[in-house]
Amino acid sequence: MNDLFKLTLKQAAEGLKTKEFSSKELTTSVLDRIKKIDPKIGSFLLVTESIAFKQAEKADKLISENQILSYLTGIPFALKDIIVTKDIKTTAGSKILSDFIPPYSATVYEKLEGQSAVLVGKTNLDEFGMGASTENSAYQVTKNPWDLSCVPGGSSGGSAAAIAADLAIYSIGADTGGSVRQPSSLCGVVGLKPTYGRISRYGLIAMASSLDQIGVITKNAEDAALALKEISGYDSRDSNSVEKEVPDYEKFLKDDLKGLKIGVPKEFLSEGVDIKVKETIKRAFTQLEKIGAKLIDLSLPRLKEAIAVYYLIMPSEVSANMARFDGIRFGKERGEFGPEVKRRIMLGTYALSSGYYDAYYLKAAKVRTLIREEFKSAFEKVDVIAGPTSPVLPFKIGERADDPLQMYLADILTVPVNLAGVPAISIPCGLVDGLPVGLQIIGDHWQEGKILNTAFAYEKNYPFNDKPKL
Ligand code: GLN
Repeated sequence: MNDLFKLTLKQAAEGLKTKEFSSKELTTSVLDRIKKIDPKIGSFLLVTESIAFKQAEKADKLISENQILSYLTGIPFALKDIIVTKDIKTTAGSKILSDFIPPYSATVYEKLEGQSAVLVGKTNLDEFGMGASTENSAYQVTKNPWDLSCVPGGSSGGSAAAIAADLAIYSIGADTGGSVRQPSSLCGVVGLKPTYGRISRYGLIAMASSLDQIGVITKNAEDAALALKEISGYDSRDSNSVEKEVPDYEKFLKDDLKGLKIGVPKEFLSEGVDIKVKETIKRAFTQLEKIGAKLIDLSLPRLKEAIAVYYLIMPSEVSANMARFDGIRFGKERGEFGPEVKRRIMLGTYALSSGYYDAYYLKAAKVRTLIREEFKSAFEKVDVIAGPTSPVLPFKIGERADDPLQMYLADILTVPVNLAGVPAISIPCGLVDGLPVGLQIIGDHWQEGKILNTAFAYEKNYPFNDKPKL
């Protein structure tokens, strides 16, 4: 009973249903684990123990009356601290919000509360989601559970490290240019960013609104399917959320890939990608073929423009979104912003200024359309596209911190997906020198089912059973 924290979401839900253990026991096990392990990792900015116990008690009551509301009822989860929670401090990893107690909750959190899920805490992140290592948090450095001298990736580094270290059963992150997938890759867990508009972003503190999307981080692909279903769906409070039925993603999970066409863009394995990452990904391709997939070589030449386009569009939107922190309504003054946030506000204001708008923002917006079209035409030929999630293995804390350009390049394989608005998942596919490598599977708009099926079939046939030693 002591090891309940190790369970997957599916296993935990089954245990609750058959009354093998209670939500209170499961929650206690997770909270004890946090107490023991998190001082080494630094995943959490806030542990919400008393809230968790109240929610667990409520869940146990429902379960005893055989009123399980969803797979998430009674299951402990962690929430990235950029998603607002009524009466629970939400900082976005920034000093400017160090005493911000939101007066309302994000739709995602309301949905989870409505299903009697159990919040164990709010997780660390790069300030307002800006970064790829979680080192830009104004509060603490989160360590990679596989090697405590390495970064967990970012910006949802706290959420990803928490799952790798079994400090929650699943977690919620947000992904503007890779922030769910890249830390999931670096921490050896599963991270899914759905189609733009699939999950309500009401109450997600905005970074770059045409790119932001909430996503799930889990221990395996099956759990990602279960969690995604429960938090997806239309919300009239988010004007970008789309009125489209949420499929039962579990139904897509089959353990072979017969007939599936997987596109392999050569740009995803170009020279910037670490040779050992490349080898691991190529081995995964061979494995995918063995379980029935057909690999098709592709070229997406516009991908080389993606980083440049992203680092014009994203800061432009950042500069507009950060204007709400004007030092009047949210307490602290603007000098409290960290250097990366300031850098992006300046870049964005410049790109949008009259005289430069046409040369920078407008041009970037046009190339963005071309990137999107390139994906669209690729998906006329293939079902999914695969490649690495991160071009590099987890890097050392401090290694890239002083070089923003090096840090930006960590996202080279994830940002095209946000620019196109399509869904993608990262799953662990092996270890190199004891550090995890993530395989990224990208789908066409609304094809979460296909990427989940690909991920599920892969992990069923080639399970990733390694765990960090903690
Ligand atoms: N690392 C990327 C950036 O710094 C992506 C961040 C994100 O997805 N929130 O912008």
